[in-house]
Amino acid sequence: MLNIVLFGPPGAGKGTQSELIVKQYGLLHLSTGDLFRKHLGEGTDLGKLAQSYMDQGNLVPDAVVIKMVEDRIATEFTAKGFIFDGFPRTVHQALALDQMLLKHDLSITGMLSLEVQASELRIRLRERGKTSGRKDDQDDIKIENRIKVYNEETKPVADYYKHQDKYVSIKGIGSIASIFQLIMYELDAFK
Ligand code: ADP
Repeated sequence: MLNIVLFGPPGAGKGTQSELIVKQYGLLHLSTGDLFRKHLGEGTDLGKLAQSYMDQGNLVPDAVVIKMVEDRIATEFTAKGFIFDGFPRTVHQALALDQMLLKHDLSITGMLSLEVQASELRIRLRERGKTSGRKDDQDDIKIENRIKVYNEETKPVADYYKHQDKYVSIKGIGSIASIFQLIMYELDAFK
């Protein structure tokens, strides 16, 4: 089994590369952002709760995210493996993920971290905002807040995996295909 954390700032290309990884390796894509947007679209209580945080570019509280992921893992743990996208976003979430995987005798194989500088992220998010319909992509203040939240709360998650010797850095600039080549090289080395 291959359980991968795909890591990186907002706009780094996690969603795009996840799609390619799913096709090539048959892993199950677990994107907390997508799950929240699905709840939002369906008007569930969880969606309503998450909306105020998401719209401002803040993190949804850990307990809420962790419960959502735990439910998903419990129903899908027989999959070939998971690709975690947008989760864990805090060290607390990373600890919780290790614990919930352990319950099913699983563990994280490695973290792939897409490295993209902030100036490029701002351009990409703004561009995505023209078509994504996402409020958090259409406003410079919200974009800045997401980059700030990433730097302050999410970046330490990389150290968590570095300490476990599971951290791999990937240059996230270039064509989608060339970045995917780098990812495949690393994933094949995990096997
Ligand atoms: P991006 O990576 O482009 O910022 P995502 O689709 O991953 O977008 O997430 C959108 C929003 O959903 C985040 O800004 C946040 O409010 C919420 N969210 C997603 N994943 C998490 C998480 N693991 N913890 C807390 N909030 C989350």
